[in-house]
Amino acid sequence: MNKASNFAYLRRKKAAPLPGGQQAFLSDIRQPEQPDTNVISVRFNTLKAAEDNLQMGDAIFCKNCRSCVSSLSQLFSKADYQEKFMKEDNKPEEKAGEESKEEQKSNEKPPQAGQAITTVITDTDKIWVCEFCGVHNVLNNFDLEEIPKTDDVIYMIRSAESLYKNPTDLTSDMTCIFCIDNSGSMSVTTEVKGKHDIKHGLSAEEYEMLKQFIEYGADQHLPNQKKDTTFITRKQCVLAAIESQLLEMKNEFPNRWVGLVTFDNEVNIVGDGQQVPEIVAGDKLYKYDILHQIGVDNGYKLISTTVKESAETLIKKFEQLKESGKTALGPALLISIGLASKGKHGSKVILCTDGLANIGLGEMDTPEGLAKADEFFTSLANLAKENGISISVISIKGEGCKLDVIGKLADLTSGSLLRVDPEQITSEFANIMKEEVVGTQVEVKVKLHQGLKFRNEQEEHLKERGSLFQKMVGNVTAKTELTFEYELRPDEELMEFGVDPDKLKSVPFQAQILYNSTYGDRLMRVISMKLDTTHNLQEAEKNVMNVNVLATRALQQQAHFAAGGLYHQSEEVGQSWDVYLGKNIAQNVNARDGDVLNKYKSKNYSLQSASSNRRTKLESRSREQQPPKPESQGVFGKVMGFFSKKSNSNEAEQGDRIQASQPQMAFGGGMNYQAPSQISAVIEKKEEEAEEDDCEYALFHDAKNCNSDF
Ligand SMILES: [Zn+2]
Repeated sequence: MNKASNFAYLRRKKAAPLPGGQQAFLSDIRQPEQPDTNVISVRFNTLKAAEDNLQMGDAIFCKNCRSCVSSLSQLFSKADYQEKFMKEDNKPEEKAGEESKEEQKSNEKPPQAGQAITTVITDTDKIWVCEFCGVHNVLNNFDLEEIPKTDDVIYMIRSAESLYKNPTDLTSDMTCIFCIDNSGSMSVTTEVKGKHDIKHGLSAEEYEMLKQFIEYGADQHLPNQKKDTTFITRKQCVLAAIESQLLEMKNEFPNRWVGLVTFDNEVNIVGDGQQVPEIVAGDKLYKYDILHQIGVDNGYKLISTTVKESAETLIKKFEQLKESGKTALGPALLISIGLASKGKHGSKVILCTDGLANIGLGEMDTPEGLAKADEFFTSLANLAKENGISISVISIKGEGCKLDVIGKLADLTSGSLLRVDPEQITSEFANIMKEEVVGTQVEVKVKLHQGLKFRNEQEEHLKERGSLFQKMVGNVTAKTELTFEYELRPDEELMEFGVDPDKLKSVPFQAQILYNSTYGDRLMRVISMKLDTTHNLQEAEKNVMNVNVLATRALQQQAHFAAGGLYHQSEEVGQSWDVYLGKNIAQNVNARDGDVLNKYKSKNYSLQSASSNRRTKLESRSREQQPPKPESQGVFGKVMGFFSKKSNSNEAEQGDRIQASQPQMAFGGGMNYQAPSQISAVIEKKEEEAEEDDCEYALFHDAKNCNSDF
């Protein structure tokens, strides 16, 4: 667990601003949404290493708040406890154990903080006064050896042997399914500088068609084109990337299962390439359960050899693929998830597409289809998550793919989402393959002292009136980082909980992470931390230890809103963090951290302009559809106007991610197309807009999943 500052800042405030100008606390002068240093984060980069730290025995939970005994907990022996918490005349009479248990059952009042134990304590018992809720817990026959020695420990919940029905699943390696778009648009070409040796990727017919453009004795290029450029199709780029991946995997992970699925009008399950592929078409493309079952069945039928045996055959199969027609992306993906459930948890599906899903489940080219597509892709993501499968989405720059819909697959399953130029695919593939899922079916709980609560979190993840965060995260990679903000409860609530903020000299934090390891064990990692408190924000700011955590929180929050379509909120959050970090934090940090803040600033900048860009576009689109209304431009609109102007003059900083890329040349289907120039201009504009939307979404996704490795 990481902390931004060495101090937890306790800002006193009332529950809600009172009308009629009642006197407020001095600290209320700051707006409630003003950021501060109260940020912590949980990372998963050390998840595998921590597994060496297996704690013997079971975790011991507080009967009231379910926090765990940790190395920071205070335990009392019977004598010490009586001395400290019970007056002589108050001691309970000794009763038989059985009786006292019954008594406990009959008056089931919730345990109260600070309430002394009324049942019998034996000499071998220990008493734990919970540091989170103050409730006294009796630990029967407790051996002090059972207290964790470090603040980061792992408990075994269930071993892999007891979890798997099929013992071969234990030794089976992960599966990697390449789910590749093979629709007509994959034959669109890109101009690449320099001469490139393209070994494969053209079918016999394609070669016939292109032959006229290829000079004798020269590499492929079109007449009247510079000789130092080569034209390659998107498909050729994808093939080259997969080929290099397969060869690498064959050497490094020879026991992995690899399968190929391609899609156009229909879905072609090639599997490991050793058998006759199965073709799925027609009505079946609209049937969820049937498609999933086809995937699961063929995981065993069509992937029977590992990559060590199948690599070469698969490469040949790739080369023979012919592009055609529509894009049955949804059905192909559902089948791929079924196939990937063959391997152990941590398996991958890599979806590679350049266009819009437009046939079968998840089709998006009609308004009705689009309305249903979101739900469909979310259910696919959940299915993958349940099976410990991550889905990475590689979208090739060209046309819009509606990344805001299919990007969710990557978001929810901890996969990567990339929007790349065709020639970059090889290196991006390599990066995706390196990113391994380190835990699946991950459930995260983060506990705060009962006097504190989380701030700016979704209500659905909060329990115990805001002091417990609980979320099914699904898959995590070494890059995953969750950030949290917290604050002191308002005075009214503190009174209710019996917490005196002046006596709160330190506060505990605890993360409980339940997950399946890559070996298949169900484990629980418990990380505990304690921070001293201060009522002075400047003290907390002077003791900032980790600027990265603050910057990560800021970017994640901003991107979270933008990815969810809440552009105004995104811009507001970004703005207030930017001001806070620049004004209050920058002066307190060293040069290295100053560097981090600069990097943050430029990222924040890209996000702000992408968000405002998208918002303005949506607003103008909706104006086109509706009768004109009197316009109101708030202060924020003006601020953002400033941002978007600045961003245009700052191309180097922005990179090309949020700029529409140039329309590309097409042969094949597009070559004979003689559209009037006006119509083609409209089509081009739409394509550019769709692309721009996708680039912005990819940016939001990136920031949402960013971590504090600046
Ligand atoms: Zn407790």
